[in-house]
Amino acid sequence: PPTAVICVGMAGSGKTTFMQRINAHLHSSESQPPYVLNLDPAVRSVPYDSNIDIRDSIRYKEVMKQYNLGPNGAILTSLNLFSTKIDQVMGILEKRCLPQTPPKPLPSHIIVDTPGQIEVFVWSASGNILLSSLASSFPTVLAYIIDTPRTTENTSTFMSNMLYAISILYKTKLPMILVFNKTDVKSEEQAVDWMRDFEKFQEAVREEEEEEREGGGYMGPLLNSMSLVLEEFYNHLSVVGVSSMTGDGIEDFFKAVEDKRTEFEKDYKPELERRR
Ligand code: GDP
Ligand code: MG
Repeated sequence: PPTAVICVGMAGSGKTTFMQRINAHLHSSESQPPYVLNLDPAVRSVPYDSNIDIRDSIRYKEVMKQYNLGPNGAILTSLNLFSTKIDQVMGILEKRCLPQTPPKPLPSHIIVDTPGQIEVFVWSASGNILLSSLASSFPTVLAYIIDTPRTTENTSTFMSNMLYAISILYKTKLPMILVFNKTDVKSEEQAVDWMRDFEKFQEAVREEEEEEREGGGYMGPLLNSMSLVLEEFYNHLSVVGVSSMTGDGIEDFFKAVEDKRTEFEKDYKPELERRR
């Protein structure tokens, strides 16, 4: 069956642009186009064609008016409404993406865009329902998209983003690829250095303290200890640098997807089945 790639990340990290890029890549590299889902109810226009779009069945603006909600509440409510139709959605997905008789060509990947506000998806019951339904039918991989120039501005922003990635990894229990996006603006090199070599990270913490950018205090020691603890976590992740703008690094990304798919089949699937 195809691999499901779910794009998550902070608002503005570039999920939608990345989706557009991997969609175009798969159109040219595979014999069958990918199966594309948009789960962001609030996006105005989507720069790629999708097979299933939450906006076809849920009108975000109407939800906002009808339930008297602000933007985040309306995204969550839209997702909740959509998740009540999960059986229908999975029915369509399985028909299009799992082997049928008579046999027909299948897509190599299912790619999924999620709401700008990551917490709405990752920390909601409906997000959970959508994720676990997908993962019960297809090998499923999370692509955690990171705005590289913003995240590597300083060590505490970087650490916050890594902690967020960990919390998602443990919450979803799915294999994860860290996608350092926007490498046309700033290379992923520094981020990768900070992950792979805690001494480099600690050196950066020290430099910031000398420049008094972080104001000293408890932050330095805390960041230093965390960089030691995180080594173990980093070992579980694939890391790639990409530019969704230029297409740089996209082949590496798909190599990482293959690795993680294998990992899913070997480690995650038995665990998911055990817990069911
Ligand atoms: P989303 O909220 O995560 O879906 O992010 P979007 O895909 O809407 O992108 C947010 C902003 O980042 C937009 O202005 C994009 O043009 C920009 N962006 C996304 N990917 C890249 C990239 O690889 N390089 C550059 N320079 N900008 C990017
Ligand atoms: Mg988006």
